[in-house]
Amino acid sequence: MAPGGIGTVLERIHAAEAPDLADLEFVLRIADPVELSSLFHFADAVRHESVGDGVLLRGIVEFSNICRNTCRYCGLNRRNTRLERYRLTRDQILAAVRNIREAGIKTVVLQSGEEDNLDADWLTEVIAAIGRSVDAAVTLCVGERSREEYRAWKLAGADRYLLKIETSDPGLYRELHPGMSFENRTRCLEDLAALGYQTGSGNLVGLKGQTVESLAGDLRFFQRGRFDMISVSPFIPHSQTPLAGEPAGDLMMTLKMIALTRIVCPKAHIPASTAIGSLHGRDERPRALAAGANVIMPNFTPHLVRRLYDIYPGKTACDLSPEQRLAAVEQMAAAMGRWVDYARGDAL
Ligand code: SAM
Repeated sequence: MAPGGIGTVLERIHAAEAPDLADLEFVLRIADPVELSSLFHFADAVRHESVGDGVLLRGIVEFSNICRNTCRYCGLNRRNTRLERYRLTRDQILAAVRNIREAGIKTVVLQSGEEDNLDADWLTEVIAAIGRSVDAAVTLCVGERSREEYRAWKLAGADRYLLKIETSDPGLYRELHPGMSFENRTRCLEDLAALGYQTGSGNLVGLKGQTVESLAGDLRFFQRGRFDMISVSPFIPHSQTPLAGEPAGDLMMTLKMIALTRIVCPKAHIPASTAIGSLHGRDERPRALAAGANVIMPNFTPHLVRRLYDIYPGKTACDLSPEQRLAAVEQMAAAMGRWVDYARGDAL
């Protein structure tokens, strides 16, 4: 056991340049309600101090569910032949982006599966068109691409890029991502940072074969990577994947990971992810916001295709209008003594 009570251990993790793995594992194993409450209070205080009380909004447009990969947890994997595939047109994307801006949100996230046939020039043009039509930060989340493509998109006006490492354990990464390479994923993250993107990464909690040791390693990976955004979300099993019969990630472990992420990366933007809102058919995002998170990502994918972006079952709030969803977020924040921040929310 790590020496000192929970408070001492948390102080030590917070102060460390590279937190001790034994300390991180100790915290990930706590189950005592009083200790858990100390952890969440500590993380919430770090959040208040480092990024303030505003809850930032990012409007997400899932513009294609076509994917060349076979990630063993993801419903978009190319072996899921039951899934009808789509890609939005440039005009459909621009219409969704305008809806985001009309809702007052100043960050647009363009997300898709990893398409072999995604024409990099087409996406360059979409990014430039967004820049001409609205004043908003553009975040891309379209997977592993070449440095030249990342450069072209940056020049066209993209500001940020999200690429989750999913797990920082290279052996587990290989098992879960047939045909993909851990080295290429980290190469992409390095290229993105070097090109001047505000760069985000993150993991999944509860993957088959994941251990407390590998989760502690993820925290060290986040801290070493100095990421501007970090998304920690629970694995949710999807029937059309090899992990269909596996249990979902544990909510409490996910909350502990969010809290520790805030403590080791105080200035990062950390979402209360949609997966946390969908895990048990209950919206648990307030608990993530109380454990260190400071971002919510409302979905602006057109209704016509939204159910086809089927990464995991039960994505929340599918049938609400943008106004209803924003009102719900405003209420959620206010109930916690927080407020919705309509700023761009760039890296700090
Ligand atoms: N293709 C892009 C990439 O690789 O970054 C982005 C799209 S991918 C579908 C977006 C995220 O969905 C992944 O980073 C992963 O963490 C999440 N995801 C996929 N399957 C999931 C599942 N079963 N449960 C929870 N999250 C999942």
